Amino acid sequence: CGIVGAVSTRNIVPILVQGLQRLEYRGYDSCGVAVHAGGLRRARSTSRVAELLAQVEREHLAGTTGIAHTRWATHGAPAVHNAHPHFSHGPGEHAGDRPGRVALVHNGIIENHDELRAALKAKGYQFSSQTDTEVISHLVDSLYEGDLFEAVKAATRRLHGAYAIAVFCKDEPHRVVGARAGSPLILGVGRQDGEHFLASDAMALAGVTDQIVYLEEGDVVDLQLGRYWIEDKSHKPVTRPVKTVLVHS
Ligand code: GLU
Repeated sequence: CGIVGAVSTRNIVPILVQGLQRLEYRGYDSCGVAVHAGGLRRARSTSRVAELLAQVEREHLAGTTGIAHTRWATHGAPAVHNAHPHFSHGPGEHAGDRPGRVALVHNGIIENHDELRAALKAKGYQFSSQTDTEVISHLVDSLYEGDLFEAVKAATRRLHGAYAIAVFCKDEPHRVVGARAGSPLILGVGRQDGEHFLASDAMALAGVTDQIVYLEEGDVVDLQLGRYWIEDKSHKPVTRPVKTVLVHS
């Protein structure tokens, strides 16, 4: 239902969780946040975002790169194991016991999830949720060859349906990649230290930045410190206007 993502030099957990709070009005059944803290770490809850905040404080969850989500379940019951972010731990036996390699949040519905799940299971991926979303996290992992932007682009070519996604991975600690087709996604240009943000709605970034790039259908965006890069649906580099958007907080 709602997405927030960030690449920064400061701890972005408070910004991610506040972003979710600003998106709460849309309704949701569960929420979660994941950060790069050496490895991938996450907290998820079927309660209010306020409870998620208490959880991240209890667990001292902190990191400079991360993604967060409020979920409105379409595939798989509202439950912690179905809440986003979803991790891929790579293929093979006991994969779930290994540290995560890819973390992903998603708004929308993947129509060909059954077919993709079957192909990924055949490659040895184990699933820990009933969501259509988890399929995308394993798909990105299966296509990853050291460059997350390329892996996400390759993954989007195989997805049918509606999505806005935000993804990061263990091996590239200062990078978040986003893509949209059928669901909204915006880029926020930060005010300090080259930080950049992603969100499903500029509202989520109120007070953080008012410099907004509205991504277009089929765009894939690469967020790094001090640099962002957008390619359109035919994977050609594009420049999109940066707009000043004033959101009442
Ligand atoms: N289809 C996904 C799920 O059920 C995403 C739902 C949403 O947009 O929040 O987990």
